[in-house]
Amino acid sequence: MEPTFRKRTSKATVRVVERPENLNKHLMLGGIIKGLGVTMRHFFTNVGLKKPEVTINYPEEKIPYPARNRGLHRLMHREDGAVRCVACMCCPTACPAHCITIVAEETGNGNEKRPAIFEIDELRCIVCGLCVEACPCDAIRMDTGVHAHVVDKRFDAILGKNDLMSRGTASIATQGGQPGWQTRDSNKTP
Ligand code: SF4
Ligand code: SF4
Repeated sequence: MEPTFRKRTSKATVRVVERPENLNKHLMLGGIIKGLGVTMRHFFTNVGLKKPEVTINYPEEKIPYPARNRGLHRLMHREDGAVRCVACMCCPTACPAHCITIVAEETGNGNEKRPAIFEIDELRCIVCGLCVEACPCDAIRMDTGVHAHVVDKRFDAILGKNDLMSRGTASIATQGGQPGWQTRDSNKTP
């Protein structure tokens, strides 16, 4: 087909061609027949030829999760049971889904903060694990293997600090890094 016109842009020449207008295009008959063909093929494969179905009877039957499945978040504890999080805001900054909300408060010891509010919206979370990678305190982990719970209202999918700490345990990581890291790093040759 001959081009109807040529339009020159700053980078390339765009050739505009007419698309054929016919009954098949308007009624989408080709697509409908093709889709029905796929349905019939699966029907006869699963029923007629007695091959196993690809569906399972969930929730009675469940497919085992892969070994690298992460599961719901948890907030780790210090030795005295307090939350390890120092509300540094690294995890909400790294989170691409913007599903972490933290409101910080003073601990009163003059050195650290802690989260007064720590919430994660599990419906928005894309389970990327960047919050865990970003945390300098081993305060948040995603290793529970627990699937997000079924909820009736979206609000119920927001996990609060107590929810997250209830799955947490004491972490033995050194809060704030290993002692003497400043001198070790300054002695390193670049
Ligand atoms: S796993 Fe990813 S999306 Fe989910 S809270 Fe962490 S950073 Fe955000
Ligand atoms: S990165 Fe770790 S310490 Fe910082 S706010 Fe998040 S959980 Fe708390």
